[in-house]
Amino acid sequence: MSELSVDHLLGIKYLKKEDIELIFKTADHFKEVINRPIKKVPSLRDVTIANLFFENSTRTRLSFELAEKRLSADVINFSAASSSVKKGETLIDTVNNILSMKVDMVVMRHPNPGAGIFLSKNVNASIINAGDGAHEHPTQALLDTYSIRERLGSVGGKKVVIVGDILHSRVALSNIFALKLQGADVKVCGPKTLIPKYIESLGVGVETDLRKALQWCDVANMLRVQNERMDISYFPTTREYTQQFGLNKKILDSLDKEIVVMHPGPINRGVEITSDVADSEHAIILNQVQNGVAIRMAVIYLLASKIKQ
Ligand code: ASP
Repeated sequence: MSELSVDHLLGIKYLKKEDIELIFKTADHFKEVINRPIKKVPSLRDVTIANLFFENSTRTRLSFELAEKRLSADVINFSAASSSVKKGETLIDTVNNILSMKVDMVVMRHPNPGAGIFLSKNVNASIINAGDGAHEHPTQALLDTYSIRERLGSVGGKKVVIVGDILHSRVALSNIFALKLQGADVKVCGPKTLIPKYIESLGVGVETDLRKALQWCDVANMLRVQNERMDISYFPTTREYTQQFGLNKKILDSLDKEIVVMHPGPINRGVEITSDVADSEHAIILNQVQNGVAIRMAVIYLLASKIKQ
């Protein structure tokens, strides 16, 4: 396979296994490029990309912008907080106004699930979903599984547990799709109130005992509790959540094996993970961030080469 089967990256759900293999192979190349003294390639000199962030972001926004600049694309940034969205403009009007300035690709983060899909049907540009509400965050799942492959040699056959707020997490859903597509064995672990009922229909196991889940897995992906998406209380107190589902050095040391620890960030130190675990050699959290740039370069490059045809 030499090109992606899709024209947009809206979710992992729409990708084939071969798409992920192609993205990883391309990311391997870009990872080598960004470790050179001259970190830039001229590949996208004639491509203009708009980063539209209707929701807060640190890592994802900076990572996309850096990836675009490393590819020599022209970049414009938009954040909802300082825009006319506050004056009542619709999403399509906002985006069409930006596209009329001859933009080829849109990277969008939006609080509404499906916002990227909606946009792809209504505007003439290649769309990358940088997180749509509690739905998908495809580049996060790509960089997460790429980081597992880098640390453990492959994703297929590995046992991965995703711990925490599965219900409100776009990282969880995209990771489940990406891990299953690549042949990993997946379980989720968290309070019953934060595990959606349909989860088993995705071929995922459920474990409510963190110790058992950790004893089973090769990799633990610790998620942040998405307080901003909760309108009711899903567990009694943060302290109780941490006691049952927080990862600390004591539990890690009590396992009779070594596991890889991941976190998509931002970390709530002392809640889902303690500092001595987050900063330990078991954690690949900063590798995930570093790989994010190469993965996003690969996705942008592959989608842009389809626009030009
Ligand atoms: N940064 C990730 C996201 O945007 C994870 C998180 O916010 O907890 O979904």
